[in-house]
Amino acid sequence: MQLQANNTDVDLECREVTKSFGHFAAVQEVSFSIPSGSFFSILGPSGCGKTTLLRMVAGFQSPDHGDILIKGKSVLNTPPNRRPVNMVFQHLALFPNMTVAENVAYGLKRRGVAKTDIKSRVEDMLSRVGLPDSGDKQISQLSGGQKQRIAIARCLVLNPDVLLLDEPLGALDLKLREQMKVELKHLQEKFGATFIYITHDQSEALVMSDQVAVMNAGRFEQVGAPQELYYEPASRFVAGFVGESNRWYGVIQERDEKGFNVQCETGLKMRIDRPGNDLQVSHPWGVGKKLEFYLRPESITVTLGDTAPATTNRYKGKVESVLFDGARSQMLVRLPDAIELLNVALPQTAEFRRVKKGDVVSVGWMSGQVRCYEV
Ligand code: ATP
Repeated sequence: MQLQANNTDVDLECREVTKSFGHFAAVQEVSFSIPSGSFFSILGPSGCGKTTLLRMVAGFQSPDHGDILIKGKSVLNTPPNRRPVNMVFQHLALFPNMTVAENVAYGLKRRGVAKTDIKSRVEDMLSRVGLPDSGDKQISQLSGGQKQRIAIARCLVLNPDVLLLDEPLGALDLKLREQMKVELKHLQEKFGATFIYITHDQSEALVMSDQVAVMNAGRFEQVGAPQELYYEPASRFVAGFVGESNRWYGVIQERDEKGFNVQCETGLKMRIDRPGNDLQVSHPWGVGKKLEFYLRPESITVTLGDTAPATTNRYKGKVESVLFDGARSQMLVRLPDAIELLNVALPQTAEFRRVKKGDVVSVGWMSGQVRCYEV
């Protein structure tokens, strides 16, 4: 991962940060930098090292190697309470025996800010997070989403350079999470603060972030804009972890200067070309090379009946099942010469409204839409 040069527009920079617990390497040589005022997410499965990395930035843990810089200055020797960062925890850690205003005021009081100043800053903050009249309420009187906003307000009132958020939506129900995703993004834009958000939920990361780092087994596999990760996954792990895909293993049967003809283990034969893959004319992959293929359900064109779509790869199939889920509906299609079920995004058109198990459909995709990786 490329490092950016030190400058004041970078709020946080990690340089080859490494942390082991005994012989287990939880975070391995992670390097990245985050421009001021951006929303940066670290996305990865449970146990990949996200929290350990965040705790090192907050100062609760020290790296074995590497450096952490905030606004261009190393903070390795700065204790957590002196670092210009604040952390919002999944369990929020609000004080139940204090009012909402007292919770928000807590950090300011500890810093010795004058009483009159505290009052006006708390009032201002409560109105900025959309809860202007709730200062006298008890924490128990707030809804889940309101508690969330107070936990963030309590941190933002301290004007941190960087706000660290450790899966703060994890405890909320699905509907509220959807709503809070949008609210959090708006709050971040409104305050112009740098947010670092860790999650294992790809939808949260994709919806809110300017940049997402995909983490796996202690390392960053790819850092990029959500669209980059989705359309140009740099590794098998990213291709499999971000978004849905059909996956196959197969071998190259023939190759020419443009691409390959491949045969999958499931019996499916297909053509794979550029663009969409970094297949160079000089690519070393030759006949017999084993590869893994990924194809997004929405990259598949489907028509009812026998009329083949105008795509490089086309097949006739039978609908095995329809998984109706509004705009995210899918159908599973069985191809005659292959054992797998193809996951196809259901077109949102009237003719597909009544499609059902057993219907004949034609499916196809362009040769550049399959991504392939070395196994
Ligand atoms: P989750 O999403 O489940 O919280 P994570 O990606 O945040 O996971 P970490 O909590 O950073 O993962 O843990 C990374 C790995 O390091 C895990 O295998 C964990 O068991 C291990 N680990 C974390 N803290 C310690 C510790 N203090 N001592 C020993 N092992 C630890």
